[in-house]
Amino acid sequence: MTNAPESAPASDFVRDRIRADLQSGKVQQVVTRFPPEPNGYLHLGHAKAITLSFSVAQEFGGRCNLRMDDTNPAAEDQEYVEAIQADVRWLGFQWDAMYYAADYFDQIYAWAERLVEKGLAYVDDQNADQIAATRGTVTTPGTPSPYRNRTPAENLELLRAMKAGKFGDGQKVLRAKIDMAHANLNLRDPVMYRIRHLHHQRTGDTWCIYPMYDWAHGQSDSIEGITHSLCTLEFEHHRPLYDWFCDSLGIYKPQQIEFARLNVEYMLTSKRKLLQLVEGKHVQGWDDPRLPTLRGLRRRGYPPQALVAFCKHVGVAKFNSTHEIGLLEFYVRDHLNKHAQRRMAVLDPLELVIENWPSDAAGKPVVELVEAQNNPEDPAAGARQVPFSGSLWIERDDFLEAPPKDFYRLAPGREVRLRAGYFVTCTGVDKDAAGKVTRVRASYDPLSKGGNAADGRKVKGTIHWVSKAHAVDAEVRLYEHLFTHPDPASADGGDFLALLNPNSQRIVRGKLEPSLGNAEGGLHVQFERLGYFYCDHRDSRPGQPVFHRTVGLKDSWHKAQQKVSGKK
Ligand code: ATP
Ligand code: MG
Repeated sequence: MTNAPESAPASDFVRDRIRADLQSGKVQQVVTRFPPEPNGYLHLGHAKAITLSFSVAQEFGGRCNLRMDDTNPAAEDQEYVEAIQADVRWLGFQWDAMYYAADYFDQIYAWAERLVEKGLAYVDDQNADQIAATRGTVTTPGTPSPYRNRTPAENLELLRAMKAGKFGDGQKVLRAKIDMAHANLNLRDPVMYRIRHLHHQRTGDTWCIYPMYDWAHGQSDSIEGITHSLCTLEFEHHRPLYDWFCDSLGIYKPQQIEFARLNVEYMLTSKRKLLQLVEGKHVQGWDDPRLPTLRGLRRRGYPPQALVAFCKHVGVAKFNSTHEIGLLEFYVRDHLNKHAQRRMAVLDPLELVIENWPSDAAGKPVVELVEAQNNPEDPAAGARQVPFSGSLWIERDDFLEAPPKDFYRLAPGREVRLRAGYFVTCTGVDKDAAGKVTRVRASYDPLSKGGNAADGRKVKGTIHWVSKAHAVDAEVRLYEHLFTHPDPASADGGDFLALLNPNSQRIVRGKLEPSLGNAEGGLHVQFERLGYFYCDHRDSRPGQPVFHRTVGLKDSWHKAQQKVSGKK
């Protein structure tokens, strides 16, 4: 059995901060939230944010909300709202309350009027380009808008007219009046509201002005009494603005804490880029098993427990880094090793005929049942009976006509164990006109049933097999990385489409042992010696299962770690 990597640290800077806030009495009960924008499906990066916010709340006896950050109707959809809820539940988390930022639009608007009245916000007639052009740079201050000194009364009237739909899209914006020379560009009079005559999936046509992220997020957190607003590092430079809005309004101010985004080799964890892959039909939809969306990972057979264990192991850090995909696969294997039953399947079949196999009185080959363990890691999983006969499928690469010395599988004159079956010795081969081996001939040792010879003789190799007369045909989908480069988002000038792996999916017809004939969507199994596989929900039919290869058996990540640490 594999050893789990060093477990996640019991404390990190997020938890240390929370603990200190509880101890000092600043916070009585921890309240966190996960705030996705319903404009796409959740991916592995979100799993990290979800795991963090929900586990922190659990660990400290607090609460965690799910909040749809639905302030921009342009790309949002009810379909995503439902998918997000289902995906969070699939990961194993349950929110204490579910909210929508759109439900706070009235309150947020009332607060905007308050800032206007206080002389802390103004209506600007400049368009987006002009605002961008006058923002200045890190080394030069911005230029104040000619509309910056409108009176509060004038601003209030204009803001109300904006809300009432008197202006067209982009004609006016509401800006916070902070400091056009501020060292942090986010504080150079940021836009709070823009005009968008758009239908919103929740508020319908009630609004034609919509708040910007910075002008809605902290306010939503404040309304919900969030104590620790955990977000990714790119928001670090927005925190002064988050604080400024709460302070200027004189409302409760949550503590924003930033942590590093999750990046995993060969994967893209950006909704925008994933959308490009889906819309460009480079993959077969949001749940394509090659995608790092939670739907894709689920369809591939990644157990949610493994994703959460991975996210916990990765932990939280203050700097962005990229994790090896082998680490994620380690957790997937670790879980499946304990929970997935073993079965035999041959994916590249070659016939093996046992020439001394007995026939019954009618001249038909005898069929015997042999007993195979369902999971050596879990005695409670029991055993099953597998039919064995004189004509079997074996894996083509388990036979070599002219093998090197250290090839411990089948070859002329060599003996191997057929898993849970018998010892067989290769006696010859049949070939087609092109010289390709079409059939391997062998003799078996009747005194080796179950896989052990009566005389104690040992063999070095054990191979898997499926009885030809009993085999179930199945489509098996084999996956490789979706990209040929470990960092597809940054390599090649960011043209990740040029880095798509043309061989990321290969479909084969396999021969499965008969107990898999009725496999149902959702079943995890280990095909002995081949890897972990998952029965597809959507494409499987009774008697015709479709399997995805979740992950192979070879654990290169763990081996490399042991080498580094000098362990065996
Ligand atoms: P994208 O920018 O790719 O569209 P997003 O970050 O804007 O994605 P949201 O739905 O707004 O997606 O994110 C919800 C929460 O998930 C945010 O708090 C965000 O910081 C977090 N999150 C998103 N991607 C990652 C990631 N790769 N690692 C960790 N957290 C993430
Ligand atoms: Mg976002």
